[in-house]
Amino acid sequence: MILAEPRSFCAGVQRAIDIVEAALERFGPPVYVRKQIVHNEHVVRDLETRGARFVDSEEEVPVGAVCVFSAHGVSPAVRRGAAGRDLRVIDATCPLVSKVHQESRRFAEERRTILLIGHAEHEEVEGTYGEAPERTLVVGTVEEVRALDLPRDAPVAYLTQTTLALDETREIIEAMEERFDDLRGPGSDDICYASQNRQNAVKAVAARTGLVLVVGSTNSSNSVRMVEVARDAGTPAHLVPGPDDLDERWLAGVDAVGVSAGASAPGALVDALLRRLAALGYATVEVEQTATEDIVFGLPSQLKGTA
Ligand code: SF4
Repeated sequence: MILAEPRSFCAGVQRAIDIVEAALERFGPPVYVRKQIVHNEHVVRDLETRGARFVDSEEEVPVGAVCVFSAHGVSPAVRRGAAGRDLRVIDATCPLVSKVHQESRRFAEERRTILLIGHAEHEEVEGTYGEAPERTLVVGTVEEVRALDLPRDAPVAYLTQTTLALDETREIIEAMEERFDDLRGPGSDDICYASQNRQNAVKAVAARTGLVLVVGSTNSSNSVRMVEVARDAGTPAHLVPGPDDLDERWLAGVDAVGVSAGASAPGALVDALLRRLAALGYATVEVEQTATEDIVFGLPSQLKGTA
C-alpha cells in the first residue's frame, strides 16, 4: 500500500469538529449544528451520538439554543436569522473561508462585479454569494466566462470556492484575464492549498500503483475530484465512503494499492481501510509525501480553554 500525504482532514475541518466537541463539553447536549459540519457522514453520525443535532436551517433551532455554523460558512442573511432567534452562535467557518467573505465585501465596496468560481449548489458558494448577491455571478466553466454579458472594461474581481484546487480554477482565471481589462483577484495569502496538496499527493501515488482508493463521502466535492485526478493520471480509482465499500474485485491483478482521503474524511476510516487491505494481503505501507501541512486554526473565543 502506498499512502498519500497530505490526506484526510485539513486544518479548517479539524477545527470545525473540535468546535462541536468543545461546544458539547462546554454547554452540554443538545448542540445544534446548521448543515453537515463537514461533508462526511461518519463524522456527522459520530457527533450525533454524542448529542449534536444537525439541522438544515437556523429556523429549525429552538429560540435561544446553541447553534454551530459549519466550516463552509454562512451568508449574512443566515446570521440575521440566527440573531432574530437569539441563538448562541458558535462560528466554525474556516478562517480561510471567512477571508473569502471579507474579500467579497471589499470588492463589493469597490463596486466591482464579483465572479465567484465554484459550484452554485455548494454550501460554501451559497454563503459567499450571500455577501453581495446583487454584485455576484457564479461561474463554473471557461464557456460561462466567455458568455458573460459584461463589457471588456467592466470592473470585475474573482473569488474561488476554497475546495477547488488551483489546477481546477487556472483555466477559468486565464479566460477572465483574456476577457477583462480591469480584473482583480484575492491576495495570495488567502488561497487554500489543502485541495491542491491532496490532489498532488494522489497523483503521485497513482503513478506508482495499479489502483487508487480515496476515502470520502459522495457529497464531498474535493474527495470526488481526487478520484478524477487519479483516473486522469491513468490509474483506476474509486471513492470508498468506508472500509466496507471496498469491492475486492477491484484488487484483481493489482500489486500495489494507493490510498488517500478527502479533506473531510477522518483518519480513523483510512486506518480501517488499511486494516482491511492488510487482511487481504497488502502487508506493507509506504508513505508518498508531496507537501507538509503545519497550519492549525485555534478555537473561537467562546470555547477557549475547553479541552
Ligand atoms: Fe479551510 Fe481549506 Fe479546509 Fe476549506 S479546504 S475548510 S478553506 S482549510
